Amino acid sequence: MIIQLKPGTEPKKIEEMARDLDAFILNAGGQNILVTPSKIKKLEPKHHVWTDKFFVFDDDIQLASRKYNPQTREIRVGDFAVGGSTNNTLVITGPCSVESEEQITRSAELCISLGIRVLRAGAFKPRTSPYTFQGLGTEGLKLLDKIRSRYGLKIITEVRDSTHLEEVIEYADIIQIGAKAMYDHGILKGCARSGKPVLLKRGFGTTLQEHVQAAEFILSGGNEQVILCERGIRTFETKTRFTLDLCGAAYLKHYTNLPVVLDPSHAIGYAYGVPDLTRACMAMGVDGLLVETHPDPASAKSDASQQLNHEEFTRLYESLKPIAKAIGRNIT
Ligand code: PEP
Ligand code: MN
Repeated sequence: MIIQLKPGTEPKKIEEMARDLDAFILNAGGQNILVTPSKIKKLEPKHHVWTDKFFVFDDDIQLASRKYNPQTREIRVGDFAVGGSTNNTLVITGPCSVESEEQITRSAELCISLGIRVLRAGAFKPRTSPYTFQGLGTEGLKLLDKIRSRYGLKIITEVRDSTHLEEVIEYADIIQIGAKAMYDHGILKGCARSGKPVLLKRGFGTTLQEHVQAAEFILSGGNEQVILCERGIRTFETKTRFTLDLCGAAYLKHYTNLPVVLDPSHAIGYAYGVPDLTRACMAMGVDGLLVETHPDPASAKSDASQQLNHEEFTRLYESLKPIAKAIGRNIT
């Protein structure tokens, strides 16, 4: 249950009620709210006194639910925003990993040439094998920082585990929590405390319920800046790397108030299909698209098979414009 408290309710009363109801105390848009476990369906008369309005839920998707907040949340990144009433679709691109100053400079220049404002690149890479490139680590974050100041781009980079959580929080404009890290409650809670925008990817074996509940950890920790990202789930199919769950994206758009980003690159895993898939994603009217690009994909140290080269991406980017126009969205 989410309880909106009457303005002026004394802090002592709020704490008393939170204790009684086992609730989180949050401030949402200037109003104090309590978030109780969803199994609480009724309030006692003593609690009604301080209650303006309350919302009952079937399950623990509460703060993220459109039943509570029908409007998609607005996420601000510097001087632009997604969600809210913006109708913006944020296009994010860049390589899988930061590999060198030259490589990330060329990636930044691609963004600048197209008017793209968010550059992606991982410094700490979650890999399936210990024998593959694990990222440049802190050195990678420093390169991203340098590029940010030089080009005025915003940076999205991922946190893989708690050893570098604070560092990533410090350097990122948007923190990415990857498919393999999304169950880590230390990361979720740390990102909640950071107050920075968080892009939360869905794990490849994660139900929609679990994905949104992971977002609830960040929201209930006091950070409203959460974006959900669908990046493909594992099915029986092996010809493509994963299966992009567009039905899931439709569910998230309909039932949750969080902006939705689609990541066709990690879903299909092969560059040949990325342009068509990205256009299909654009046509879904989502809040963002994440597409991996590399100045020389064949030499990429991670996810080489799926990254588009800069010419391919430029052609794709141009082809998204009429689709955005047809569905009334602005590419940001
Ligand atoms: C990535 O964005 O490079 C990445 C590792 O993604 P995911 O967590 O979706 O595998
Ligand atoms: Mn990648």
